[in-house]
Amino acid sequence: MSPAAAALLPADLRVLERGWLSSNSVLMTGDPRGAVLVDTGYCSHVDQTETLIAHELAEAGESLRLIVNTHLHSDHCGGNARLRQLHGCPVLIPPGQFDAVQSWDEERLSYRPTGQRCPRFQADGIMQPGTVLAQAGREWEILAAPGHDPDAVMLFERRSGVLISADALWEHGFGIVFPEIDGVSGFDEVEQSLDLIESLPVRLVIPGHGAVFSGVGTALAEARSRLAFFRLHPDRHARHAAKALLMFHMLERGESSRADLLSWLERTPIHAVMWRQYFGAKSLQTWTEELLQELVRAAALQLDGEMIHCT
Ligand SMILES: [Zn+2]
Repeated sequence: MSPAAAALLPADLRVLERGWLSSNSVLMTGDPRGAVLVDTGYCSHVDQTETLIAHELAEAGESLRLIVNTHLHSDHCGGNARLRQLHGCPVLIPPGQFDAVQSWDEERLSYRPTGQRCPRFQADGIMQPGTVLAQAGREWEILAAPGHDPDAVMLFERRSGVLISADALWEHGFGIVFPEIDGVSGFDEVEQSLDLIESLPVRLVIPGHGAVFSGVGTALAEARSRLAFFRLHPDRHARHAAKALLMFHMLERGESSRADLLSWLERTPIHAVMWRQYFGAKSLQTWTEELLQELVRAAALQLDGEMIHCT
């Protein structure tokens, strides 16, 4: 985090930043009722999440009263089950997938199509856009932020100008526009969410991944130019998404044999959907091999004989 951003971060907000496999988590402290945790990371990091949260709570001298999610991708709610049980606190989720959570429909929750894992958790209520989450004298406005995920929400607090943007806006871009991969509108919704952010007096952004930043105007301009490019070249968006999913899997595994990785990709429904929609002129194997080689050339992955490692 830059010194300018650090100076704008209120002392009652604690941000845990952990790269791309686990989303950032935000702990809202300073309320006599207890702390609120926004997002809980990926399940393979759950021991680390538990330790980090316990440490922050001990330092603040508080207990956890509530867990909320910006959206239900596996890297944002993988610690829900463990932390809900450990702290005995309710979990609030965005609307749209409440029933899918209660019946644990892994198809609708995206875990089966993406080949990602998320331990089953129970939801206790809804983060309804248009309402307010009150915490420590702050009023966090719950705002719908469709695009990356149709049901995603952001949290904005006017007094400090802090926006918890999740994957609607990062310092450099935004999350994969999953609805477009499924052949549903998503780019228009990304634009609406960027317009909404631009209309707010935002001074500091806590994104879902990457560093907290203060230059919201620069980030919005970069996001808009990226969006314009993807609109013109939806195949490049799909290719970017395919590489991101492959990298997510590799970050989870650390290393894999080439054969295991290829067989995992062939079994992962969303990978085949992207291939069929945009790259069906070549075989699935050829396309997958191309993606792998691109990631090796970009030094994101390293080939060591038949083994593939994250760099
Ligand atoms: Zn996401």
